[in-house]
Amino acid sequence: MSVYKAEYIWIDGSLPTAKLRCKTRVIEIGTEPPVWGFDGSSTNQAEGHASDCALNPVFSCPDPVRGGPDRLVMCEVLNIDGTPHPSNKRSPLAAVVERAADLEMWFGIEQEYTFFDGIKPLGWPDNGFPAPQGGYYCGVGADEVYGREIVEVHLEACIDAGLAISGINAEVMPGQWEFQIGPLGPLEVSDQLWIARWLLYRIAEDYGVSATLHPKPVKGDWNGAGAHANFSSKSMRESINSEELDKLSKALADRHEEHIEAYGAFIDERLTGLHETCSYREFKVGVSDRGASVRVPWQVAQDGKGYLEDRRPNANIDPYDVTRLLTEAVEIAEGS
Ligand code: ADP
Ligand code: MN
Ligand code: MN
Ligand code: MN
Repeated sequence: MSVYKAEYIWIDGSLPTAKLRCKTRVIEIGTEPPVWGFDGSSTNQAEGHASDCALNPVFSCPDPVRGGPDRLVMCEVLNIDGTPHPSNKRSPLAAVVERAADLEMWFGIEQEYTFFDGIKPLGWPDNGFPAPQGGYYCGVGADEVYGREIVEVHLEACIDAGLAISGINAEVMPGQWEFQIGPLGPLEVSDQLWIARWLLYRIAEDYGVSATLHPKPVKGDWNGAGAHANFSSKSMRESINSEELDKLSKALADRHEEHIEAYGAFIDERLTGLHETCSYREFKVGVSDRGASVRVPWQVAQDGKGYLEDRRPNANIDPYDVTRLLTEAVEIAEGS
């Protein structure tokens, strides 16, 4: 019997930020990964006396770590009666996507993250701090970037897995990096972002390095880590005039607090108004403005069409929540 290894990956019930979990199932070649179970009492998803939860495969791709016929299988968590588990944020997004299919939403998510070597960011001195920020963003050279080997292996792995990774860059704080997934539809970008995060953790593990999505991994005068969400509807890709931009800005402004609530734990530590952010207490749309909540890229202002960048989401977001809220905001703006 020839078999392949399916790595089942799912999102747990950890608070305030959910984590990825994974386990392997050996499956006969020619058979799709079936629904599987796990012990929800060990993942904050069930009580010990009724601990079973179900893993329902929603997206799968080649496993670039194991290679050969092996696969990565992104799953959603269901209760044993087949209903969505309360921790399952994909299922509410799927309902919105179905309702708003005509919008043809696309998303490109910029995932920032920070490598850690034990308790300090990778490359930082044992005592004290590296030179202040300034030369690290898109830097090159052993005195400026740390962890590039891991970043390169991760990029290659995402490409081999068939993910829509669109680029990588070194970030403003040393040890901090970014990759981008998209543009893709809301469910696709979210499923792929979760798989790309899993690959990052898994590959860095081989180097004895951890990657964190904490939005403010080092307190003080160091950049936080975000997950800018670039978004467009079919109509926005055809035209964004000033009236359309006003409607969209109003829909986003009206729901600002709800978005902030869902844009990642500790968002108040990151959206301070410093370090290329707008305070979480304000909502501001601006052309080319990296101090705005939502930025209109200059090219978009010039062409009168394209996409907007929501700069508010933290690195530790659940993309199922963020793409749902932005789809709903566009639905309101384009429906009125
Ligand atoms: P920044 O200049 O903010 O660093 P990046 O180049 O890192 O921007 O990321 C921009 C993201 O926007 C990419 O993932 C890209 O694929 C995505 N993108 C491009 N066009 C669109 C579009 N029309 N709708 C949604 N996302 C888009
Ligand atoms: Mn970027
Ligand atoms: Mn960035
Ligand atoms: Mn950006």
